[in-house]
Amino acid sequence: MRTPRGARPRRATSAEWSDWRWQVRNRLRTVEEVAAALRLPGWAQNVERGLLRRFPVAVTPYYLSLARPGKANDPIARQILPAAEEGVALAGETPDPLAEDALSPVPGVVRRYPDRALIVPTSFCATHCRHCFRKRGWAGGGVALKKSELLRAVEFVRSTPAIRDVLVTGGDPLHLGPRLLAMLLTELRKVPHLEVLRVASRAPVTLPQRIDEELLALLRAVRPLWFLTHFNHRVEVTPLAASALRRLVDAGIPVQNQTVLLKGVNDTSAKQLALARALLALGVRPYYLHLPDPVAGTGHFRVPLDRAVDVVRGMFGKIAGFGIPRLVVDLPGGKGKVPVMPSFLRRRDGDDLWFESPLGGGEVLYRERAANRGDARSRPGVAGPPEPG
Ligand SMILES: *Cc1c(COP(=O)(O)O)cnc(C)c1O
Repeated sequence: MRTPRGARPRRATSAEWSDWRWQVRNRLRTVEEVAAALRLPGWAQNVERGLLRRFPVAVTPYYLSLARPGKANDPIARQILPAAEEGVALAGETPDPLAEDALSPVPGVVRRYPDRALIVPTSFCATHCRHCFRKRGWAGGGVALKKSELLRAVEFVRSTPAIRDVLVTGGDPLHLGPRLLAMLLTELRKVPHLEVLRVASRAPVTLPQRIDEELLALLRAVRPLWFLTHFNHRVEVTPLAASALRRLVDAGIPVQNQTVLLKGVNDTSAKQLALARALLALGVRPYYLHLPDPVAGTGHFRVPLDRAVDVVRGMFGKIAGFGIPRLVVDLPGGKGKVPVMPSFLRRRDGDDLWFESPLGGGEVLYRERAANRGDARSRPGVAGPPEPG
């Protein structure tokens, strides 16, 4: 089976290439191997050994095959190839800025919001994205919760009626043993007050073979289920990835995408539009565009907020409104995700509001209803009429 872009680090039969277990067993685990496959001789010498112990290398042969060899700035290469800058700690960066470890009531559970909880059943992932905000978990080699710990996490949800929404994430939760995964999702589904169940996995991107019939049968059985994934670039939407997404959608499982805005990978409106169009065409909705968190070892990916807002602004008028992801900042300390919207309001003059049109041309006037503001102003302490809706 030919792959679209070139780098083929392993010899595989077509059957092996299509087998997710083969992909995991044969993942590349050293910077030397990855750099050699990408034909970047000398790259490994610049990467400090201590950095690699903290942030080890891992990538599936499939995901590596999407990179164009010989280009260190390739969007796939940047996501998997360790960079010397990962060893540089920038001001304010910490291993766990979202305070997930502090917000964990029982092992494997993170609860920041009263109504939602994360379950992290494993820190293992076959592909280590260099921008990962949980890269602090890699050094342990990827630890999975034991059955008793998984049951304790479910028990926490069961005994906390305020939790309506559980997000099973990782690592990659689809690397949990299939029986344990089935037990976890089935037990969660039995909790009467659980209204929303989500699974977050990058497998459609880095290991689309994982979305096999056995998994689909399990996911179908625990519906309603929301699937969250993490495409960052159009080249990741390969025929194999598209087929994985199509099978999820066909199984009645809505799929939403969370992109991380990464310098040198996807930090232009054109790249975001290309990705959003490819996803929408498959029935997948762009959900969040994350500004990178201040995680130690990821500083070289950070994009300034003004630039991020401009990237999103450039998408308006060019795609369905629901094709534009919501730009969010995850506040340090686990204080919540907040949206940052580009504003098209240029200036206001009394009741005259002047907007910039996403279609270009001059400013456009929208006249506010004078009466509302007049009423509110002339009667201090009395609110204006309620907004419609
Ligand atoms: C992102 C996140 C959630 C879910 O947030 P939504 O905005 O509902 O997608 C829940 N808990 C934690 C700790 C999170 O980081």
